[in-house]
Amino acid sequence: ICRGHRPLRLYVSPMKQDDRVVGALAIVEDITELRRLEQVRTDFAANVSHELKTPLTSIRGFVETLQAGAIDNPEMAHKFLNIIQMETERLTRLINDILSISKLESGNDEVATERIRLDKKACDVCEMLSIHAQEKEVTLNYKLGSEPVYIIGNPDRVEQLLINLTENAIKYNKPGGSVTVQVFKSAQEANVTISDTGIGIAEENLPRLFERFYRVDKGRSRQMGGTGLGLAIVKHIVRSMNGEIEVHSKLGEGTEFLITLPLAPKENPEKETIFEDE
Ligand code: ADP
Repeated sequence: ICRGHRPLRLYVSPMKQDDRVVGALAIVEDITELRRLEQVRTDFAANVSHELKTPLTSIRGFVETLQAGAIDNPEMAHKFLNIIQMETERLTRLINDILSISKLESGNDEVATERIRLDKKACDVCEMLSIHAQEKEVTLNYKLGSEPVYIIGNPDRVEQLLINLTENAIKYNKPGGSVTVQVFKSAQEANVTISDTGIGIAEENLPRLFERFYRVDKGRSRQMGGTGLGLAIVKHIVRSMNGEIEVHSKLGEGTEFLITLPLAPKENPEKETIFEDE
């Protein structure tokens, strides 16, 4: 916001007494925030169009090349069809992420609030992504805590949050590197840390990291099949659960994401109270 340059909206209406104008009432409204939100919306629409166009342009290009004769060269045809398949998968991921983010932002998300065993969920996600990690020559470690950790939330969303962060930790890693996922309980909170020994993020890029479509390295993100929406989705999920997310990183050394979420209330509160009374 520019100091001294604020958009204002002015409403003026006459005040009458017996059909005579005796004064005027003026209301001045500061519409800085409204303008900012309008700009955010316009930027988002422009970004979405651009992001959708990129794979479509590529698909069209390869289809035209095939039609122009490449189809008769089996080797080339095979290569181009693979690219077309990759680009359609990218489009699907992009559309799914856009749908997730608009649902989360409109507040119309399904509010399934279940008791979730967070440590178990994180362990399942690590198992699910272990093949992906192997392919990238990254060791994926899951550190089991000493006791179960329960939170309240939408299990699908919690899974999405864990997948997005763990997948990033694998994607932005180096061969021979590692990823460690840990879930533990502190006095009032459930904590998850996802740390990697990957490429890291320079300090100047950290403030914009959770913005929609922000990527530190566009080329690398594209090559990894990224949509640029993963962290924006994560931020929304954490926020919808009244939690917090922090990121610490050192360029060339690695990154750590820390999430804190409210713990689920004890399942059998009466029993607990009796114990406390004694
Ligand atoms: P993308 O689909 O590009 O991965 P995300 O929203 O998930 O989008 O992440 C935004 C950007 O943040 C990525 O493009 C990458 O530059 C950076 N990033 C995210 N996680 C990590 C990580 N663990 N290590 C290094 N960079 C990361």
